[in-house]
Amino acid sequence: MRFDHETLPQRVSFAPGGAGGAVAAEIETLGAHRVMVVASPRDTALAHRLLKGVDVALWHDEVVMHVPVDVADRARAAAKEHDIDAVVCIGGGSATGLAKAVALTTRVPIVAVPTTYAGSEATNVWGLTENGTKTTGVDRAVLPVAVIYDESLTSSLPRNMAIASGLNALAHCVDSLWAPRVDPIDTALSAEAMRALHSGLLALHGDSASGHGDLLYGAYLAGVAFTSAGSGLHHKICHVLGGMFDLPHAQTHAVVLPHVLAFNAPNAPHAARTVADAFAAGDAVPALVDLCHRLGAPGSLRELGMPDNEIARAVDDVLAVAPPSNPTPVTTENITALLTAALEGHDPR
Ligand code: NAD
Repeated sequence: MRFDHETLPQRVSFAPGGAGGAVAAEIETLGAHRVMVVASPRDTALAHRLLKGVDVALWHDEVVMHVPVDVADRARAAAKEHDIDAVVCIGGGSATGLAKAVALTTRVPIVAVPTTYAGSEATNVWGLTENGTKTTGVDRAVLPVAVIYDESLTSSLPRNMAIASGLNALAHCVDSLWAPRVDPIDTALSAEAMRALHSGLLALHGDSASGHGDLLYGAYLAGVAFTSAGSGLHHKICHVLGGMFDLPHAQTHAVVLPHVLAFNAPNAPHAARTVADAFAAGDAVPALVDLCHRLGAPGSLRELGMPDNEIARAVDDVLAVAPPSNPTPVTTENITALLTAALEGHDPR
């Protein structure tokens, strides 16, 4: 046993039905008086409800997936103009991503109230997109100082979005198992996260309200494992596709994950065993494919809007960023085959 593991500092509260009080308490602890609230128009009413009684200097609702640079610039300019001293983000990974873009330049603390299972709130990774290319970086200032999980806020997720987002969280876990900096703590967190996500997704599928708590718990652990282990091949692929074709984030992860698991499993038997055990199944790949089918997850990149004639361009970009430590060495041929199968929705088995 020889490894280094960095645990990132943040307060994490699970407060079903209690996000409003928890946000006010965090703002008081921070001593902030000029709060910026980032929430898309969908969440404006919710944001006003949760921030009742808090001094809000700026309500900002321009939230766009993958954080285009011009959108970030406008948010940063507004933050500067209003001299803000904290950001509260309410919403999915896109709202968190915009808050991170603001924190990156202003260095103000973030309080995050996630409403999806994207897990960005548990990472110190920021992302910005310009001219079809997504750039990411790591900075301690973008790690929210506090995260408030309130499962009553995710119950409004449309079923297909909840399922895709839960599979996005599952992808953080699976990809962490072979990511460049993976250590035994990441693996333990991933295994527990996969168990909770599997159980939450099945509960959601069965219409049980109990699934949301498991899914948020799993999403948090998944984000922690992912930020420690780093991006594996799966994230590199989704990152290239998301930036190049502006594909929906969670759904892209849901489509690509079974293909990457099938690609790596033969050369990563321990990882495959960990996935299978978390699912209480005999074999990881069929178990994941069956889960995706059962949940009615999206099956092809084509249905998400990826054009048919762009595979070669995507392959070039994936090869440029694929981790050298990936269990199955990448080649033009095998990544072309993987992306073609994901584009067309072939059965990864
Ligand atoms: P999102 O935030 O864009 O949300 C997807 C859709 O769901 C939006 O239309 C949103 O309005 C809606 N929505 C969100 N919560 C809802 C709720 N409770 N009820 C009803 N509708 C709801 O998408 P996402 O998948 O949460 O996040 C994707 C973004 O997060 C991407 O840009 C991705 O790169 C980023 N991300 C970053 C990290 C990181 O570590 N930096 C990690 C994961 C994701």
